[in-house]
Amino acid sequence: MKFCFNTKTFSNKDVSSTKLAVAGDDFNVSWIEFSNQVDMLCNFLQKNKLVGSGYPVIVYGHKSANMIISMYAMIKLGVPFIPVDEVFPIERVKKIIQSAKSDLLLNTTPNKLNIKETNEVNWNGGKLQVQKNKQIFLTDKIPSADPIIYLIFTSGSTGEPKGVQITNESVEAFVHWIDRDFDFTEKEVFINFGMLSFDFSLFEVFMFGYLGASLILNNGENDFSPEAISARIEKYNGTIWMSTPSFAFLFLKFGVDYKLTQIRKFILAGEVLPHSLAVGIKSRFNKAQLVNAYGPTEATIIATYIEITNEIIKKYNSIPIGVSNDYYKNRVEKGEIILNGPNVSIGYLNKDLLNDEKFGLINGIRYFNTGDRGEFKDDLLFFKGRDDDLVKFHGFRIELNEISSVLNQLDFVGKSETIALKRNEVVKKIVSVIQLKSDDRNKRDIDFVKSYLSISLPEYMIPSDFLFIDEMPLNSNGKADKKALVNLYFNKGS
Ligand code: AMP
Repeated sequence: MKFCFNTKTFSNKDVSSTKLAVAGDDFNVSWIEFSNQVDMLCNFLQKNKLVGSGYPVIVYGHKSANMIISMYAMIKLGVPFIPVDEVFPIERVKKIIQSAKSDLLLNTTPNKLNIKETNEVNWNGGKLQVQKNKQIFLTDKIPSADPIIYLIFTSGSTGEPKGVQITNESVEAFVHWIDRDFDFTEKEVFINFGMLSFDFSLFEVFMFGYLGASLILNNGENDFSPEAISARIEKYNGTIWMSTPSFAFLFLKFGVDYKLTQIRKFILAGEVLPHSLAVGIKSRFNKAQLVNAYGPTEATIIATYIEITNEIIKKYNSIPIGVSNDYYKNRVEKGEIILNGPNVSIGYLNKDLLNDEKFGLINGIRYFNTGDRGEFKDDLLFFKGRDDDLVKFHGFRIELNEISSVLNQLDFVGKSETIALKRNEVVKKIVSVIQLKSDDRNKRDIDFVKSYLSISLPEYMIPSDFLFIDEMPLNSNGKADKKALVNLYFNKGS
């Protein structure tokens, strides 16, 4: 059968109709079922005039096959989508809806959200139900030559999540580059672990569709069972492991009897790959390739990668993140990694000032100032950390200022600052330091503060510890002195 989309990137793949397309945590779909369900959803949305306003649609849920069907339906309709995981608190989902002016949420979970600012289609099991809260004004605007395929909302330093807009051109550049450089075939079975609201997961979401291959979604992070994950990989003959180093570490920590020899590639990305983990993977899976990939959401999934061989492990104490790339014009300028190519986003949604600072054009090609420090050595690119408040914790991207700005909304908080305690550039703990307005001991209630934060922040952004202080130490610029705060935290017991 042919799987046909309206975009240049995903079109006319020859694929066997009975072959597995997606194994979700709800049900599995073959390619013919996948294609039919994508069409059914597209027809339903068009018939009910639920799409066509030009605003992005929220695709909401977790690891269901319907999440993937919904994303591909949006691609087929040419409607931008925003993947949002159900772990996000409702307040955060509302902020995303407001910021993107989304007038439709495709809910693939069994629970209705009833958010009055948007319409909702419940897309769970085979049945489709609509809850209309808002009129949709259809537009006959001709779509721009390079329409947006998806937006990913990441943590924002001002306290609001910010939307990274990725166009068709960027996705096309990405899939063609990966197709050229990786020896993937239609026989691949991609093993997904990351949440679908993170852009690294779109690697396998797009590549399985591009190749006419298969995708297994794993609900690994909620109900972590290395045995169950291994059994699932064996059952479906998973060939390409996609995860953060943190997840791979957690998995490897538990010895399982399964050999998992069918996995031929481990592709890790999203945070520092510790040397010891690279050694661990190479020795346990000695026939498989290990790839370290790097790139921010702003540059479409990944921007550099390198195969980590035993020679590299032996020669270098820290693991490189890439090589000089002939596909994108990435470089290091004054110690900062600058990404340059058609993969670079057209900018954050409605953030003109920030866009001027972070994005630009060189010879007509977009670039992004990553804020990541890097260095080329022997033609290999090494990651050297960051100087700002963006951190990666267990693979999650967190702007520390976003946590502080939520804390500052509490009426008893005078000032707050959030710090990350790191070892070898790997974040070990996140701590918020709070200066109270008056020293009322009752207000030092950590449980209350945590539950307040969890109204608008996902679980992974809640600090593991809090420190209450009388006076915020300041540096010569009048800003909170972070080094002093780290010392205060370590000496707090003494
Ligand atoms: P995200 O937008 O969630 O993909 O996060 C992007 C940021 O994660 C980058 O700007 C880096 O700071 C960090 N990052 C991504 N991949 C790697 C890697 N392989 N090694 C070190 N840091 C990484």
